Formats: sequence, structure tokens, C-alpha cells
Amino acid sequence: MAGKTIFKRIIDREIPATIIYEDDLCLAFKDVNPQAPTHVLVIPKKEIPSLADSTEADEAVLGRLLSVARKVAVDLGLTNGYRTVINCGRDGGQSVDHLHVHLLGGRALAWPPG
Ligand code: 5GP
Repeated sequence: MAGKTIFKRIIDREIPATIIYEDDLCLAFKDVNPQAPTHVLVIPKKEIPSLADSTEADEAVLGRLLSVARKVAVDLGLTNGYRTVINCGRDGGQSVDHLHVHLLGGRALAWPPG
């Protein structure tokens, strides 16, 4: 069996993270290598490797991820706006094989991404 991802280990409290939100389906914590003044990752507790691996059965959790991102953005005072990003697969730049939504804010963000 493949080993746990780093995010599963955070869910299981095997490694530390600055957790800022948790419910039955999701966990949100600060990114260890922030790309903006606010950089939070929102992840499902269910081990879904990527958006491409999710199915219609995951619609509730997919909706919850965005709902939690919005809630955290309000809680962290991102009143000027923010960006949510899901990197998927190799071309998408995904580096951790556990679905996650990046919530970035606190500065003006350039577009398009590289
Ligand atoms: P990806 O490139 O897969 O979309 O994003 C993975 C993110 O996870 C990166 O922004 C990276 O900084 C973050 N990350 C990787 N390992 C850890 C960790 O151990 N703890 C935390 N809090 N974030 C991590």
C-alpha cells in the first residue's frame, strides 16, 4: 500500500500544521511556503488524489471545499478579494497527491499564471 500523503498525515495529526478551520468533511491550514500574505489550503478529509480523481459522488465535498474557502476568506479579512486555485496533475503543477484548494490573498495577484 502506498504511504500516506503529507496532507493525510496532517489530517491524522501526525505532523503539525497551523489549522484554522475543521468540519466533518474538510480541513483548512496555512501553507508552509506561502505565495501571498494569506495562503491557506483547504482539503477534503477523504483521500481524493486530485480533482481528476473525484466523481459525482464527491459533489458534496467539492462544494464544501469552496464554501469553506469563502468562509475562511471572510474570517481572515480578505475584503479586497482573493484567488482560489486547484492545481491538477503534472501539467497543472500539482505536487501533493491529495486534492486541495489554494486560497491566496492579501496582495494583488497577477494573471495569467505561469
Ligand atoms: P500543489 O503544488 O500540489 O498545488 O500545492 C501543494 C502545496 O502544499 C504547496 O503550496 C506547498 O507549499 C504545500 N505544502 C507541502 N508540504 C506541506 C506541509 O508539510 N505543510 C503545509 N502546511 N503545506 C505544505
